Amino acid sequence: MSNIKLNYNLSKNSWFGLGGAAKKYFSPSNEEELIDYLKNNLGEKLITIGSGSNILFRDKGCLETIIKLGKEFQKIEIKNEKIYCGAAALKSQLSKFAYENSIKNYEFLSCIPGTVGGGVIMNAGCFNFEFRDIVIEVEGINKKGDKIYMQNKEIEFDYRQTKISEDIIITKIIFKVFKGDKNLILEKTEKLKNKKSISQPSKIKTGGSTFKNPNFSLKAWELIKKTGCDKKIIGNAKFSESHCNFIENNGTSSKDVEDLIHFTISEVRKKFNITLEPEIKIIGEK
Ligand SMILES: Cc1cc2nc3c(=O)[nH]c(=O)nc-3n(C[C@H](O)[C@H](O)[C@H](O)COP(=O)(O)OP(=O)(O)OC[C@H]3O[C@@H](n4cnc5c(N)ncnc54)[C@H](O)[C@@H]3O)c2cc1C
Repeated sequence: MSNIKLNYNLSKNSWFGLGGAAKKYFSPSNEEELIDYLKNNLGEKLITIGSGSNILFRDKGCLETIIKLGKEFQKIEIKNEKIYCGAAALKSQLSKFAYENSIKNYEFLSCIPGTVGGGVIMNAGCFNFEFRDIVIEVEGINKKGDKIYMQNKEIEFDYRQTKISEDIIITKIIFKVFKGDKNLILEKTEKLKNKKSISQPSKIKTGGSTFKNPNFSLKAWELIKKTGCDKKIIGNAKFSESHCNFIENNGTSSKDVEDLIHFTISEVRKKFNITLEPEIKIIGEK
């Protein structure tokens, strides 16, 4: 199959721009092709990725097969007062689609990078909205090639996590429709985008927030700042000056980023007896 690549360089699939090679990389064009592959490769270890805006791939690459859904998984349509969205569509595309169809509450998606599938897995959110608020149902395929369906409640959305098994490849998401006013939707989208551009750095190689906030009132960035880790530089990795929970990569080694993550966890634990949990997913061989 031409959409299978061996020794595939992962750095171009990561917002950090880092990472070694995947032993095998498969980008199915459509659902049939994906199911066929899974049924013929039972037992193979798989990792599905979206845009890699929340992933740090290690320098040594990975032995698992990387699955990245192709173009046919980007379709978005409305049927029976519900939005049907392919998991590989970008959040910004879904936000634009909602605006064009006068559907509100999707404005926040214009501010978060990556795919809709990645957003579901991470229960991504900002400005008091997250995926939990808009999803009706998720469709996916398990490692055996069988289709699965999960209702919002079964997904158990939580802060930047869900209960969806790593063995499931999300293929489609069914979303709620909230009728709104097109002008107000546009106004809100612009407002949120402006707010985001002021509060977060752009044009840097990063994975967004490195750590989850320990709780609602205790922010990871404050702990990073109070330990002085915001000024720490390891190789070519450092925390961004405009948002000290964002790590900025200025080099070619994901080890620098991972070392900075571990250094920060250790410093915060020593000073506050709190263990920071990474929001970023680290993938690959140590
Ligand atoms: C500049 C910047 C700003 C950010 N701002 C925010 C923000 O405001 N709020 C927020 O919540 N996050 C934010 N993030 C983090 C990130 O964009 C989100 O977590 C996003 O939802 C990840 O989507 P993705 O397609 O890039 O997923 P990836 O990074 O590719 O993957 C994330 C996880 O989802 C899994 N996955 C991806 N697709 C599938 C699928 N189809 N089936 C099964 N598993 C899958 C991957 O295995 C991985 O575990 C930001 C990141 C950056 C770089």
